[in-house]
Amino acid sequence: MPLPGEMFYRMKPNSLRKGFKPQAESISLDLRSRLNLKATDACPARQVAHLLQIQVVSIQMLRKIAEQHLTIEFPNSAHLDTSLKTLENRDTQFSAMATIIGEHRIIIFNELNSIARQESDIMHELAHVICEHPGNCLSQKLRKYDPQHENEAIWLGATIQIPEAGLFQLVREGRTNQQIADNYGSSLQMATYRRNILGIDIRISRSNKSTTGPVINKA
Ligand SMILES: [Zn+2]
Repeated sequence: MPLPGEMFYRMKPNSLRKGFKPQAESISLDLRSRLNLKATDACPARQVAHLLQIQVVSIQMLRKIAEQHLTIEFPNSAHLDTSLKTLENRDTQFSAMATIIGEHRIIIFNELNSIARQESDIMHELAHVICEHPGNCLSQKLRKYDPQHENEAIWLGATIQIPEAGLFQLVREGRTNQQIADNYGSSLQMATYRRNILGIDIRISRSNKSTTGPVINKA
């Protein structure tokens, strides 16, 4: 279960193992190509989940299902009900988690969060699954917190959402951070973060140094 809030602010990109960032970019572009999408296209998390045969269900929906069915099957399901209610509660700030129920890989998310936040939450869990973090998503228990795995999932989740190649192109075309966020269905903070952490503007201005380049809007 990821930490609540905008997780990417908390990560230390330098702590990622060598080669992970280019690998993440290539996973992002590969998923897009399998979905017939370009680097500048949004790659909706639910489409990625469908491609990887992972079901996505909200905690609210899961509780409804549990309420309607599990009480018949499991008369002593009060504990489960309490747990789900706790996760569903707005104050808990539950983001998402990946788990296996029977043979089904499932990502559970919180539909009370904004659409952009749901997108990055689900993407983060998909990243854990893609990285095959042992004992995490692929376990029936709640994930143990592993800082290395968290950093990888944060970076990969964000890269699938906004690949470097697409971001570079959109900034080059003069798109604003808000337009980039709208384009990828991300939060404005996520688009701004990716643009800054990848040094997109610096790289474009370097490549344009000898010529007059496009006007870059940061707003
Ligand atoms: Zn995580």
